[in-house]
Amino acid sequence: MSLSLEEAQQRVVSICKSRQLAIDTIPLQVAVGRVLAEDAHASDDIPAFDNSAMDGFAVRGEDLPCEGEARFQVMETLLAGHVTQRVLGVGQCMRIMTGARMPNGADTVVIKERVRVEANIAVIGAGERQGSNVRPRGEEMLAGQLAVGRGQRIRATHASLLASLGMDRVRVFRQPRASIISTGDELVMPGQSCSGAQIYNSNGFGLAALLGGAGAQLDRADESPDGLPFRHVADDREQLRCALLDAARASEVVITSGGVSAGEADHLPGLVRELGQVHFWKVRLRPGMPFLFGEIEGALLFCLPGNPVSSLVTFQSLVRPALRALQGDRELHPRWLNARLVAPVRKQHQRTEMLRGSLESGEDGTLNVRVSSRQGSAMISGMLAADVLVEFPESAQTLDAGQVVRVFPIQHD
Ligand code: AMP
Ligand code: MG
Repeated sequence: MSLSLEEAQQRVVSICKSRQLAIDTIPLQVAVGRVLAEDAHASDDIPAFDNSAMDGFAVRGEDLPCEGEARFQVMETLLAGHVTQRVLGVGQCMRIMTGARMPNGADTVVIKERVRVEANIAVIGAGERQGSNVRPRGEEMLAGQLAVGRGQRIRATHASLLASLGMDRVRVFRQPRASIISTGDELVMPGQSCSGAQIYNSNGFGLAALLGGAGAQLDRADESPDGLPFRHVADDREQLRCALLDAARASEVVITSGGVSAGEADHLPGLVRELGQVHFWKVRLRPGMPFLFGEIEGALLFCLPGNPVSSLVTFQSLVRPALRALQGDRELHPRWLNARLVAPVRKQHQRTEMLRGSLESGEDGTLNVRVSSRQGSAMISGMLAADVLVEFPESAQTLDAGQVVRVFPIQHD
């Protein structure tokens, strides 16, 4: 029995959540792309001291003139990273640079462009506001406050924020070890001669890149420097059985491409039943219906259809969310947007169709989507030209021009 796309996603995610990986402590500089395994709190106020937001002159706000000009004696120069013992007195000021700690007694910085300097006197006119151009202690965050939550995938800005809290190491979820097996008698490797009814193996390369991007640690076909990050197996039941068992023993996640439909050379469904367990086979999804999710000897197995676009669409819809769930990521699916269809589309089947589409800005500023004319599930270039997958719901047969649909940004890496 087939599942709807939502049911399939729920099944995959709930099983993967229950298999969440262990926790590692790693240096912050290698943590980008990893998922934080515990909340990170500020250990101190940020900033930890009042400091100047601009290059200028630190003054006592009550000394600023309401009209005319006031003259301040310049006492010293404060650079970022230095502390002065001097307390600012009446009618005094200090030259101060961005990021320098405010001297005691001062509460305001007047930017240097608005100050006239005569020898060691700074002349400041009316119109300055008390308290301006100062970044007060704790302005961004108070000690103890949550800075980055558990389950957050660390990106450049998170790394920067965590570093600003003084963290040099972080606790993150481990990455799954993954193996890829491409199947098909017709496939040859790029670089070799391709003739007769052969085609180049493209899925191996695309899936390896997507898996790497989703945080998996890829098992190599061999250890040589240019060893491929996937294995290729002909449509031979025995060879496939051996490859599946090897991969399941080496990895926590096994991805296959091809050989999962109901054709004569499609050995995978039968083999998985024999060697392990099928959680489900077939999703009411186009492209990508023959997708199978199962496991062999504790390794999770994702069997993707061989058509390149089908393999990319099922990766995005079902495999990436699974890999994220295994890594404790709290954001599993791409955020969808609403867009207005530029032209009508029709279908005759009862599956969710994920059409390739491009976003455009409508005349009234709304988001429009144009469904591509190149929908072939073997056309990799059609996938590449698209920004989004346009959801054509199971039960609908027609979508009219102007109708609002959900679109899912395609993540090409
Ligand atoms: P299958 O799912 O094995 O029936 O394959 C469906 C289609 O995808 C066929 O046209 C295959 O030749 C093609 N195909 C299967 N595997 C690959 C691959 N690794 N790279 C490119 N095309 C593939
Ligand atoms: Mg095949």
